[in-house]
Amino acid sequence: MKKEFAVIGLGRLGGSIVQELVALGASVMAIDISEEKVEEYAQIATQAVTADTTDESVLRSLGIRNFEHVVVAIGENIQASILTTLILKEIGVPKITVKAQNDHHEKVLLKIGADQVVHPERDMGRRMANNMMSNNILDYLELSDEYSLVEVKANEHLYGYTLIELDIRARYGVNIVAIKRDNQLLVSPQAIERIKQGDVLIVIGSDVDIHEFEKKSLH
Ligand code: ATP
Repeated sequence: MKKEFAVIGLGRLGGSIVQELVALGASVMAIDISEEKVEEYAQIATQAVTADTTDESVLRSLGIRNFEHVVVAIGENIQASILTTLILKEIGVPKITVKAQNDHHEKVLLKIGADQVVHPERDMGRRMANNMMSNNILDYLELSDEYSLVEVKANEHLYGYTLIELDIRARYGVNIVAIKRDNQLLVSPQAIERIKQGDVLIVIGSDVDIHEFEKKSLH
């Protein structure tokens, strides 16, 4: 069975979600109040529909409850985003993901039952700042307010040592969950695994511990 999604709001975020889902083989209904936007996606989405999603009867007539996951990527019009989410929830859509403009918007969305709220600009900004702060950190993924997953380049302070010799978990409270080596991923490396030149470590831990690990063991 093909996965069935609907994306409401075809701005930069909604538009790129539609394109990627289609490329991944999913079936996608693309919805926007602007006819122009809908025309742009007519050839890309499985189905493209012009509709004002703050109108409950319109959403019902589109059979929106049959979609397993609906994304609300309406940006500036916060009222329309909240109202659309509320209606989707009432209709009984199983999973609703909504783009928030700011923290207040996010709070309201979570209160009314959005399953997932995304903040693309804020999250990308944090990611970029973390990458910029360190030459060793290649990528950064925030798991919660306190915990993150980062990719760090191993350097000469680590080469040649096994994980047990480095004793990273006990010393810094972070865990190496995988090692990227020669384009391969070594998941859950064993304690006797020796770090080699060119290795990229995938590390999980609290932001404070990761920072400490990065500062003390990589410089
Ligand atoms: P992005 O950053 O993703 O480009 P944005 O934050 O600039 O988006 P907008 O352009 O304000 O967001 O909104 C995204 C889309 O949502 C627009 O194409 C707009 O026409 C559509 N939209 C706004 N209100 C409604 C509505 N009531 N029903 C359906 N679509 C709507």
